[in-house]
Amino acid sequence: MTRINVMQPWLGEEEVLAVGEVIRSGWVAQGPRVAEFERSFAQRQDVGYAVATSSCTTALHLALVVAGVGAGDDVVVPSFSFIATANAPTYVGARPVFADVDAETGNLTPETLEAALTERTRAVIAVDQGGVPVDLDALRAVCDPRGIVIVEDAACAIGSAYRDRPVGARADVSAWSFHPRKLLTTGEGGMLTTPHEEWAARARQLREHSMSVSAAARHTQVLAPAEKYLEVGFNYRMTDLQAAVGLVQLDRLDQIVKRRRELATAYQAAIAGLTGLRPVSDPAWGTTNYQSFWVEVLPGYPLDRDGLLVRLAEADVSGRRGIMAAHRQPAYAGRDTGTADLSVTERLTDRTLILPLFHHMTDDELDRVVAVLRRSGR
Ligand SMILES: *Cc1c(COP(=O)(O)O)cnc(C)c1O
Repeated sequence: MTRINVMQPWLGEEEVLAVGEVIRSGWVAQGPRVAEFERSFAQRQDVGYAVATSSCTTALHLALVVAGVGAGDDVVVPSFSFIATANAPTYVGARPVFADVDAETGNLTPETLEAALTERTRAVIAVDQGGVPVDLDALRAVCDPRGIVIVEDAACAIGSAYRDRPVGARADVSAWSFHPRKLLTTGEGGMLTTPHEEWAARARQLREHSMSVSAAARHTQVLAPAEKYLEVGFNYRMTDLQAAVGLVQLDRLDQIVKRRRELATAYQAAIAGLTGLRPVSDPAWGTTNYQSFWVEVLPGYPLDRDGLLVRLAEADVSGRRGIMAAHRQPAYAGRDTGTADLSVTERLTDRTLILPLFHHMTDDELDRVVAVLRRSGR
């Protein structure tokens, strides 16, 4: 029996060739491939500007800086997310205030957001958790009249759609991840997208030490012009080695999403016949890429979540505990992070698990996973 992993990136000879070309070119740092990847990404995501970064975490940090969030501000974030969502406000001296999520989608709703708002709320980080699109328009109806900026954490959501456009296309600023646990990978890497030209320009400078002239531009001249450092910036650059991989990966996106949705549909059909398991599904306002195919183990099932994970492991199937709750982590446990009720977050984080789902997963492998769910459900 061979191990079925929870995720496996699709990397092929095309990526190997693309990286080889970059190495042979002699320019491996941020340069022409990064610029090309940014253009392709912006086009694909139907958004004005894309700025490549070293990760989604650093893109989230820059997003808050360009949105003008700083010390003394509150930023509402779902606790039900990877820890980076809560860390980004902390980096700019703001306070993350935790909000609860919807039991169906795992995302913020107008109600859970309003329950967490404070006088000082300057921004909200709306996550498309596990790829499920958040209802952005509904959040906007709460935020726009109050002058609150929405940052979309679309780390998981490349290939997901919201109201017939790519996720992230309607936000003031969005952040994306190319970690191997996500649909497209560049090893590590991220992207910031925004329709605002000035925000993109500032993010572009900030990621490169806030240099007045980029290193790639200086390199084109034998006597490089003197540069200035305009504010305290960061080194959050992506390399051309990564961007070359990203360009190949972007071409694979449609196929990846199509196959993931096929596999998810097969899982859903099988699980529909079992009592006590509730799988994630598309919300009314969009489609998910099923970056995480999560299942809630309800009290009607003979095993609890951890028991089922053990059964899966016995069959050499590597499931994962569901999305974490940041407010329970030592990094935030002792801090003042607001007073909102987080009971849905706690329920979902305790009861959900993530099943294997990746592009090259075979129908037989899926059947093997389903067989464990079925056996354990009797
Ligand atoms: C993965 C993830 C991140 C962090 O992405 P990196 O590229 O690893 O920094 C942030 N937010 C969410 C919701 C994620 O799932």
